[in-house]
Amino acid sequence: MKTLNIVGGGSAGWMAAIYLNRYFNREVKNFQVNVIESPDIGIIGVGEATVHSIRFFFGAMGLDEAELMAETNATIKSGIMFRNWKKPIAGQTHEYFHPFDQQQPGGSVDISSAWFVGGRKSQERYDEGVSVNSHLIKWGHCPKGASSSNYQGAVPYGYHLDATLLARFLRRKAVEQGVRHIEATVTDVEVAAGKILSVQTDQGAFAGDFFLDCTGFRGLLLEKLQSDNWESFADVLPCDKAVAIQREFPMGTNPRSYTVATALSSGWAWQIDLVNRQGSGYVYDSGRISPEDAERELRDFLGPEAGVLKCTHLDMKVGCRRNTWVGNCAAIGLSSGFIEPLESTGLHMIHLGVSLLATHLAGDDGSGVLRDSYNEKMRGFYQDLKQFIVLHYCLSDRDDSEFWRAAPATVEGCAWLKSKLPLWKRKICEYQDFAGSYASIFTDANYRYVLYGMQHYPELRFAMSEGELEGIFQRFSQLLVRAKAGTLDHAQFLQAMHAKKVSLT
Ligand code: FAD
Repeated sequence: MKTLNIVGGGSAGWMAAIYLNRYFNREVKNFQVNVIESPDIGIIGVGEATVHSIRFFFGAMGLDEAELMAETNATIKSGIMFRNWKKPIAGQTHEYFHPFDQQQPGGSVDISSAWFVGGRKSQERYDEGVSVNSHLIKWGHCPKGASSSNYQGAVPYGYHLDATLLARFLRRKAVEQGVRHIEATVTDVEVAAGKILSVQTDQGAFAGDFFLDCTGFRGLLLEKLQSDNWESFADVLPCDKAVAIQREFPMGTNPRSYTVATALSSGWAWQIDLVNRQGSGYVYDSGRISPEDAERELRDFLGPEAGVLKCTHLDMKVGCRRNTWVGNCAAIGLSSGFIEPLESTGLHMIHLGVSLLATHLAGDDGSGVLRDSYNEKMRGFYQDLKQFIVLHYCLSDRDDSEFWRAAPATVEGCAWLKSKLPLWKRKICEYQDFAGSYASIFTDANYRYVLYGMQHYPELRFAMSEGELEGIFQRFSQLLVRAKAGTLDHAQFLQAMHAKKVSLT
């Protein structure tokens, strides 16, 4: 039996441990999985919003949804509301929603094209024309129904959860399933012939066959194996710091079932509602605003009405490893790469990285073929994600600060995206436009929400009859009626889920 040593006990370390232990050790034990976690170095403790596919991870790990939600003070997430990413329009704050579903109610023309041809952009936001989640949030509903089973709902959904409690929950589950938890601080890494032999700790040395570097931004193990292995994205994504504030909810507040991302003077602020508190933070470019001014701007934005529990200043290293797997060590989590959390992709990249590592490790003969394949894919995923995040900035027309005046030029560092923007003024953005890319989660539907939310509209030069258009949007309306009838009020759903732990109002 081989030994797999995972160094780091944040979300990355424990998600990797539980996943790899289940993958390799169900009936036959292939690996002894150990997690070596420093009792003295904390986890980053942010990372509270997920994308919808995290349900597949939790489900595959055999975790009960109700237990997971109760243990992590979780709420449901239907998508992200973007505010102020363009100038106000006719005195109104610019706003669009990026939901987790896109409906295709049938017909010979797709609903997105029909939305343009039917001239609906003067009546509603694009997302309201094609997504059920957009309407659920208006009604205060979430996608779960009274009889929805584990991880199922009327439409896809994710969660807002407490990152520290998630790591604790996953640790308990992983240990119950046979993962060994070692509390020790790594002080040195013993390397020979490009491979790690052991990690030295204050509790002795731990030898292993394969190592995972889950030490966060430090990248303690991978840095020992290969220097000059980091590709920075700072040229196109300049936000390099964050200030996070947790605050109590004012009495009587019902948590929102969506994340809010509001553009501020030199970056943007997130607001994420859990059942017991709201997590918020300002992701900013420290070349344009100081940490003190950023904290002040965030406090002004949040207003005085709620008690602050905690304020933390964080450095962010934005970019990715050129090689995520070097020798007998792979990096998972912040040590492998990080892109600002605008689309809540941190946990998703861990899910992706660890599931792909399992399939590659399973056939690895040491020749390097699978290592190279893994590295190529991980780098491709980060590059794709970088372009998707840049899309949010480069379409802005804000000119009220240096940060926003510089935003359109960020596309210059993204050749693929730059080549597509003129195309998407002439035609609908569609799946085939992504041929050859590494789009792992954000595909054409997601691009359309951002493109059309930011009013980068195509000029379609064809007509449809009133009847054809009516047919499509009537079928969409029927979907909405069914979704409303089959789903619960978000607050009521949370009351039931958290009944034993928290009283909401
Ligand atoms: P960490 O949490 O930093 O854990 C590192 C671990 O390594 C710790 O256990 C520490 O004890 C251990 N360690 C370090 N050095 C040693 C040593 N010498 N010996 C032993 N152990 C050691 N992701 C999302 O999915 N959604 C979000 O909304 C989101 N928001 C974010 C907001 C911000 C501002 C930032 C910076 C990140 C955000 N992320 C988000 C990303 C998310 O926080 C991370 O992807 C996730 O928490 C994984 O972190 P990690 O486990 O890699 O690192």
